[in-house]
Amino acid sequence: MSMNTQGRPTGIGTAATGMSSTGSALLPNEPLLFEIGDTEHSGVDLPDAQVDGSFLGGFERKTPLDLAGLTEPEAMRHYVRLSRLNHSIDSGMYPLGSCTMKHNPRLNEKMARLPGFADIHPLQPVSTVQGALELMNQLSHWLMTLTNTAAVALSPKAGAHGELLGMMAIKAAQEARGQGHRKVVLVPESAHGTNPATAAFLGYSVKAVPARADGTVDVEAVKAALSPDVAAIMLTNPNTCGLFEPQVLEIAAAIHQAGAFFYCDGANFNAIMGVVRPGDLGIDAMHINLHKTFSTPHGGGGPGAGPVVLSEALAPFAPVPFVRRNGNALELVEHVEGQALGRVTAFHGQMGMYVRALTYMLSHGADGLRQAAEDAVLNANYIKARLGEVFSVPYPDYPTMHEALFDDSFLEGTGVTTLDFAKALIDEGFHPMTMYFPLVVHGAMLVEPTESESKQTLDHFCDVMAELAEDAKNGNRERFTAAPQRAPRRRLDETRAARQPILRWERPMVVPQAAE
Ligand SMILES: *Cc1c(COP(=O)(O)O)cnc(C)c1O
Repeated sequence: MSMNTQGRPTGIGTAATGMSSTGSALLPNEPLLFEIGDTEHSGVDLPDAQVDGSFLGGFERKTPLDLAGLTEPEAMRHYVRLSRLNHSIDSGMYPLGSCTMKHNPRLNEKMARLPGFADIHPLQPVSTVQGALELMNQLSHWLMTLTNTAAVALSPKAGAHGELLGMMAIKAAQEARGQGHRKVVLVPESAHGTNPATAAFLGYSVKAVPARADGTVDVEAVKAALSPDVAAIMLTNPNTCGLFEPQVLEIAAAIHQAGAFFYCDGANFNAIMGVVRPGDLGIDAMHINLHKTFSTPHGGGGPGAGPVVLSEALAPFAPVPFVRRNGNALELVEHVEGQALGRVTAFHGQMGMYVRALTYMLSHGADGLRQAAEDAVLNANYIKARLGEVFSVPYPDYPTMHEALFDDSFLEGTGVTTLDFAKALIDEGFHPMTMYFPLVVHGAMLVEPTESESKQTLDHFCDVMAELAEDAKNGNRERFTAAPQRAPRRRLDETRAARQPILRWERPMVVPQAAE
């Protein structure tokens, strides 16, 4: 074995070969990096540093770093093998409702790797990053134009984070009007959990607005819930049942008349982008998930980005930092001016995602974005039409928008649960749909194909879904309760994994070996 200049053996260590512990390259039971490598070996061979003394003023580390020394191929194989243990949008259809798991175009990745975007630092002088600021400026322009709003805050790092910022702006605006006593936020029953959580986090009490039997929100129910204590409504449109709220204009008018603001959860913007401008519907604040509608990676690939657009009334409360034109140059406003809120993130948010999202916008153009939305809606309606004969459709009255909602009544008496059914879908090569959400539908199954899927893929998906339903009804319970059989892992205790995650690796005790 060769040694590096510090006398540590290089290359693949003796402790582990970097091979999977099952010995099979195809179904690896992937060990951790610390189990593959060890601290005795080094993956690199650097000469000793030729420096006299240290520049660290006594802060240099005295103990070994204790990191596994791996070669580049060992590290690479580890991550590639891990990536194969999971489903991804690059490996198959991912119809997870409300999550808009669309294809992440490679052009986005190419643009994000341009050195002028990838290799800059947020603390560089603004005169050296004018191109990056111009990109943020253009992205803001597109978001404001698509939504017909007066301002945008780019920096929130997820939809939920954007919701928080939007509601903070609403709270600040109410206080500025001397209406800080308004302590109630209306949230329809069908809302995503992040809506009531956001309102509660800001100290509001949440008042639920019941859903109508047809899955939409009734303006009369909103009016009945309104009072001088209401600060805002948080409404999702299209809603989480995949329906466009038919009374959204009347709801907006009633809300404004009562002195409240209209927060719109815009996670489902993919259904209406380029077709409807939410500003025309009377919204005051709305987050837009770049990682949903605008094709930036998510579901393990992140990070997310949830810019918030704001109406004229809320624009003064947009947080810092923001980009502003100053003569020929762009400047970054980093200190609170007027009523602006402070920072909600370190630096400026997810620059790499801004590049990908603007690339998606520019490569589609205005007409292309509209077509993407129309295709997403068409695909969802195709699934609803094809599977509506096999599955039960809870809200048949309206055409669906970007997602098709089914309930579990077709499983009655089969002994198969919605969860079992979803697990069986994994064995067929699909990521399961969203289950048990929205809560207003018993055993909900929410399918969102997005515009990315071809008719061929949709047909294959529908065939598989129909065949599974048939098999469940025919009493082949085992196929469902034992699923997944073809995934790297069987049924997991998901509750325990969420409640008691093991996030820390403990070095196993070294048992002294007897002398030979
Ligand atoms: C995804 C989603 C959110 C939250 O977005 P995150 O980026 O996951 O925080 C909120 N509301 C709805 C309807 C969503 O689908």
